[in-house]
Amino acid sequence: MEDCIFCKIAQGKIKSDTVYEDNDFLAFRDISPQAPVHILIIPKKHIAKLYDTEDFALLGRLMRIASKLAKDSGVEQRGYRLVLNTNSDGGQSVDHIHIHLLGGRAMQWPPG
Ligand code: 5GP
Ligand code: ZN
Repeated sequence: MEDCIFCKIAQGKIKSDTVYEDNDFLAFRDISPQAPVHILIIPKKHIAKLYDTEDFALLGRLMRIASKLAKDSGVEQRGYRLVLNTNSDGGQSVDHIHIHLLGGRAMQWPPG
């Protein structure tokens, strides 16, 4: 989608620090990391909000890539957090669904 920053990253129009890519998904390091490991996993296809899709296979693959990247980045054993923010109360600032993989430090609960 035009004017979507994550579509531009998926298309290679904006550079990112890519950690994983296949035909349908991309994972890259967050530009403003909130933990030693902070990776964003996105579908290349533009989906603005979690509730906009019933493509459960795509959502399942998104989760699976996140868990594999947690293992690959060495945070699986100590633990990590997956976050998917939605709309303003959820803190969604980019309207293209993405999972945050956060790890490398202890997380607080409840989240801020
Ligand atoms: P949200 O707030 O929507 O859940 O998460 C959006 C995330 O995208 C933020 O953590 C923000 O730092 C990250 N972000 C925004 N623009 C860019 C960018 O151009 N490149 C990268 N790598 N991350 C970005
Ligand atoms: Zn997009």
